[in-house]
Amino acid sequence: MKRLVVLGGGESGVGAAVLAKKQGMDVWLSDMGHIKPKYVEMLNRYDISWEDGGHTEEKILNADEIVKSPGIPDTAPLVSKAIGLGIPIISEIELAGRYTDAKMVCITGSNGKTTTTLLTYHILKQAGLNVGLAGNVGNSLALQVATDPHDVYVIELSSFQLDNMYDFKANIAVLLNITPDHLDRYDYKMENYAAAKFRIMRNQTKDDSFIYWEDDPIIARQLQHIDTEARLLPFADRDDERCAAYIKDGIMCFDVDGQPWQIPTGELSLVGRHNMYNSMAAGLSASLLHIKKDVIRHALADFQAVEHRLEYAGTVDGVRYINDSKATNVNACWYALESMTEPVVLILGGVDKGNDYTEIEHLVKEKVRAIVCLGKDNAKLHSFFDGKVPVVTDASSMAECVDKCRQLATAGSTVLLSPCCASFDLFRNMEDRGDQFKALVKSMMNK
Ligand code: ADP
Repeated sequence: MKRLVVLGGGESGVGAAVLAKKQGMDVWLSDMGHIKPKYVEMLNRYDISWEDGGHTEEKILNADEIVKSPGIPDTAPLVSKAIGLGIPIISEIELAGRYTDAKMVCITGSNGKTTTTLLTYHILKQAGLNVGLAGNVGNSLALQVATDPHDVYVIELSSFQLDNMYDFKANIAVLLNITPDHLDRYDYKMENYAAAKFRIMRNQTKDDSFIYWEDDPIIARQLQHIDTEARLLPFADRDDERCAAYIKDGIMCFDVDGQPWQIPTGELSLVGRHNMYNSMAAGLSASLLHIKKDVIRHALADFQAVEHRLEYAGTVDGVRYINDSKATNVNACWYALESMTEPVVLILGGVDKGNDYTEIEHLVKEKVRAIVCLGKDNAKLHSFFDGKVPVVTDASSMAECVDKCRQLATAGSTVLLSPCCASFDLFRNMEDRGDQFKALVKSMMNK
């Protein structure tokens, strides 16, 4: 009997364990931290052996194969040992892919994955397809394959998930963009990170499609070195009829399989230039799946914006508050700033992932009147922005931060939480950071 060890007892790990158990494997799940009660219940229900609060090495290193949660780096001591022993290490998605023939629409990129994944899922759902949502959003793919199979899956894939994928194939792969992120996990080398993203094309054949942003310089460079049979469908936010999706005179145009269709950009529910890209990628995926253009058009127009992404939080004393807590890298903040039309008080800070703030320097100088640094260690922010913006000040809690923003912002300006950084120094996660921000804005509004 094949022995499969799962490292990590979260959504993906537990899903993988359930699928492996159903496939008749000898499964052992181990988590260094604490496994949530709902997952403990699931493990027990499927009679899967597990441990938490530490790893029993001998029970792990006797595996025939290991499924590793994407959050665990290859440098974790136990993972290095397993690699040294030649034990294959795969992702939950790789495992799930072995047990389904469903069509896979896979979405990756440095920014816009969740938005594009949810938007694509929304279109396919509206079209009446039997579709599942998986990857970083929704239930784990493995769990759905094991217990609630679908005909099509829309899957959000981070570079960490792509790292341990080998034979898995995306029927439709979307690569939105590649900008510096998570460089700490890639030896601070952009080429390693880009290579991880391009794994989304692995195993694609002439029957598969690769949708990508035509104007991304890193994608363009990398594509020159890639030998693929996949059908290439670029998109761009300018008038370029060589692209499968492009914008002409305020109309978003799609052209797939000689079936052109259009939607005026003013009808799209998601605003901002970055969301044009996301809408084009989702519209192209849906066109490839032969969804009727009226259905796609309607779904692109009635999609509800996703929480913590340029989310309007309220107006107090004529100042608009925008929650973009999900902007955990510099490029996401660039798009947020680019879409701002009023003077900005910008909240930056948290855990820096090797950020280079030069990318936003120009927009900050043009639009930002004050920066509030919200982090345990704000030294890097000060050394970059001091002297470039009239005020650069500090806060060590969201309450103090919102209070300072209120003092600094004048009527007609915008307070923008778009921090460029991860949130783990002061918050549980980016949702907690955004929720605290919104709650404080709400309470100011109610006073
Ligand atoms: P991801 O899942 O890749 O982190 P999200 O959809 O959650 O992407 O958005 C993350 C952040 O990036 C948000 O601040 C959002 O406004 C911004 N963003 C969304 N789409 C794009 C895009 N195509 N290019 C750049 N930034 C984007």
